[in-house]
Amino acid sequence: MNRLLLSGILLVVGAISTCHAQITDPKATEFWEPEPRVVTPSAAKAPSDAIVLFDGSNTSEWVAVKDGKAIGWKLEGGAMTVVKGTGAIRSKKEFGDYQLHIEWRTPAVVESEGQGRGNSGIFMQGRYELQVLDSYKNRTYSNGQAGSIYKQSMPLVNACMPPGEWQTYDVIYTAPRFNADGIRVSPGYITVMQNGVLVQNHTEIKGTTEYIGMPKNIAHGKGPLELQDHGNPVSYRNIWVREL
Ligand code: MG
Repeated sequence: MNRLLLSGILLVVGAISTCHAQITDPKATEFWEPEPRVVTPSAAKAPSDAIVLFDGSNTSEWVAVKDGKAIGWKLEGGAMTVVKGTGAIRSKKEFGDYQLHIEWRTPAVVESEGQGRGNSGIFMQGRYELQVLDSYKNRTYSNGQAGSIYKQSMPLVNACMPPGEWQTYDVIYTAPRFNADGIRVSPGYITVMQNGVLVQNHTEIKGTTEYIGMPKNIAHGKGPLELQDHGNPVSYRNIWVREL
């Protein structure tokens, strides 16, 4: 190797190691700004900065998807329950990225099987379904059971409680990004804990939920949380969102 080049390299290496060696104060690698704002957590209810969409007392944050009018679901016992045929409901508020907490319960009386047993669903931005189903000893296609991103991604495990018991989903949702031409430049992602058990780990959302055919990716902005009427009296309670 050229002697001049070699001495040059040694000089640079020496300068870098000298530079690193100069940091001796542990405080030099601390940062204090910005400071995380204070949020008061609660085991029993929503954290202090959450947007409460349903606390069991009224359904004022919700409308029917079909006409934007009052929902036809039943409000009873601190829960709202699907009334068959009244259709899906959506939150009035719209969201981009968020943390979601929601509790759901499939009917205690088992009347059907497969996709007909305690079927509902939670649609992120009104488009991407996190399946709600009574998957307790109830086999169906894996990417259609509870905890799946419907027809896209099966859950990592089956963490279902028996029918008639309340279950939780805690969701971290990152919305897809679209450029000015309407082209998706980054997919959506979803992480889901069911009853405290990880079932979706930063899963890429392939596009819209389609019963038949491939997912679609049509540009959109913020969207509502949507709950499905699939004909079964599934109940929901304690729904809150923290925008991210
Ligand atoms: Mg469903």
